[in-house]
Amino acid sequence: MSHKITRQTFDEVMMPVYTPFDMLIKRGKGSYLYDDKGNKYIDFTSGIAVNCLGHCNKEVLDIINEQSKQLIHVSNLFTNDKTLSLAKCLIDNTDFDKVFFVNSGTEANEAALKLARRYAHDVYGDFKNEIISFNQSFHGRTFFSVCVGGQDKYSDGFGPKPQAITHIPFNDIKTFEKSISDKTCAVILEVVQGEGGIIKANDDFLLKVRSLCTKHNALLIFDEVQTGIGRTGKLYAYQTTPVIPDIITSAKGLASGLPIGAVLAKDDVASHFSKGTHGSTFGGSALACAVGEYIVNKVSNKNFLRAIKMRHDLFVETLNAIAKRTGKISDIRAYGLLIGINVKDSLKPKVPNLIKTCASHGLLLLSAGHNTIRIAPALNIKTHTILDGLAILEKELNAV
Ligand SMILES: *Cc1c(COP(=O)(O)O)cnc(C)c1O
Repeated sequence: MSHKITRQTFDEVMMPVYTPFDMLIKRGKGSYLYDDKGNKYIDFTSGIAVNCLGHCNKEVLDIINEQSKQLIHVSNLFTNDKTLSLAKCLIDNTDFDKVFFVNSGTEANEAALKLARRYAHDVYGDFKNEIISFNQSFHGRTFFSVCVGGQDKYSDGFGPKPQAITHIPFNDIKTFEKSISDKTCAVILEVVQGEGGIIKANDDFLLKVRSLCTKHNALLIFDEVQTGIGRTGKLYAYQTTPVIPDIITSAKGLASGLPIGAVLAKDDVASHFSKGTHGSTFGGSALACAVGEYIVNKVSNKNFLRAIKMRHDLFVETLNAIAKRTGKISDIRAYGLLIGINVKDSLKPKVPNLIKTCASHGLLLLSAGHNTIRIAPALNIKTHTILDGLAILEKELNAV
């Protein structure tokens, strides 16, 4: 019996945690998506900062094709050349010594938080277990990660939560000074809060956090799940700041669409993930790592990073002009190709609907925080696609 699959099928067969857009996506190419009715959409979402080279990139397809004929997965009972090559490539392009692979952002944070707790337990004793995190932060949906994240609505209603987690205001040095102590084992933050509304950590704040973490022997973890892999203009966003954290986590763009995550740390910390303390069946598969190695080499190239800066400049210039012409934009926050747009307060309740009407007119956008419009396109999006997309946004802004 044949059953026609439509958008309606979602409501029949899927657990209702998501409310996907009204169309059914069939195909993607570069920065464009196509639905089952043949409609074409400009994609400013790139799978939420995942498809960093766009949809069905030729080189990525070639690697998937070749590698899938060699080896897809063997588990961590065995190692393989692709996993080791990606690990080496990540180490060569950052300030860290060791890598642990997982399959997603939340798993990377889960592993980083467990590593920080284990390090403190081994080196200082069990009293040192407190984690400091920030309001509006987002670290994923597994239970430890979601409880560390700064939005209660995501973690409430699932029973007893992991203990010793404190949430304080972001970019607030005074509160941070009062909150950190010798009992703090880790501080975790996003260099640019993504889900929270595209809010960047100030340099002064980061310098203070770094120095107090060092003073109190607390590990500083940067969640680079969204900001990593060229998103903010360097391979990792910490490379745009005056500090070096002790641990970073990476995922989203790392294999341009294949599921992968990574935790990076220095040797003295990494050694506390000793035999048997953590694990993952799928983590660091040969297939995902083969693509990851290509992506990290591609994105860390100076010319590629320079081109991200040019695309950033075009977005900012054009958005500023749109702000002037429409008078409806109150703030533009852009870090590389992670861009947040706020509309004037009176229009804020209309943002969800604005995003819907943009979609029906061929432009796909994200939201973040309190009705911020978020743009996170493929890192290689073309100039004319940027301009075409922003023209649709301007038209729809004028209509609200
Ligand atoms: C998306 C995101 C996560 C969660 O990643 P998943 O792959 O969905 O588990 C964690 N942290 C940040 C900063 C993110 O943007």
